[in-house]
Amino acid sequence: MNDCIFCKIINGELPCVKVYEDIEIMAFLDIHPVNFGHTLIVPKAHYINISDTPTDLLGKLMVVTQKIAPAILKATGTSSFNLGVNNGAPAGQVIFHTHFHVMPRYEGDGYKMWGSRAYAPGEMEKLGEAVKAAI
Ligand code: AMP
Ligand code: ZN
Repeated sequence: MNDCIFCKIINGELPCVKVYEDIEIMAFLDIHPVNFGHTLIVPKAHYINISDTPTDLLGKLMVVTQKIAPAILKATGTSSFNLGVNNGAPAGQVIFHTHFHVMPRYEGDGYKMWGSRAYAPGEMEKLGEAVKAAI
């Protein structure tokens, strides 16, 4: 993908602070971190997001996430992180090349992931049935 920033990073056309690389996956620090140590785990092959990424590659992304998260935590001196995927533009995806966000969390950092809404009576059960029927 010629115009994909992450493909350019992976190909070495753009710089990054790389923290991990294997034959299929690369991880580098996010240039606009929500917290220090915010890291992106990225397949080298171009896929848009988790909806079109092959299942085995998604599994490998998770394996790498589990492998390097302790190193990110050790380097940042904390014990917790959020794992995030913005899947699609309305979900906040800006770079359309599959990636996981590992976002270290610090006691009292005040970072809010999401709020909450309330279902009308019966709405939750109805939605649950609709999801089950669509699987
Ligand atoms: P998303 O909203 O899930 O598509 O996230 C894209 C992420 O890529 C954002 O958190 C950006 O800060 C990050 N980003 C964009 N350009 C670069 C870059 N050149 N190097 C590192 N991270 C980047
Ligand atoms: Zn790409």
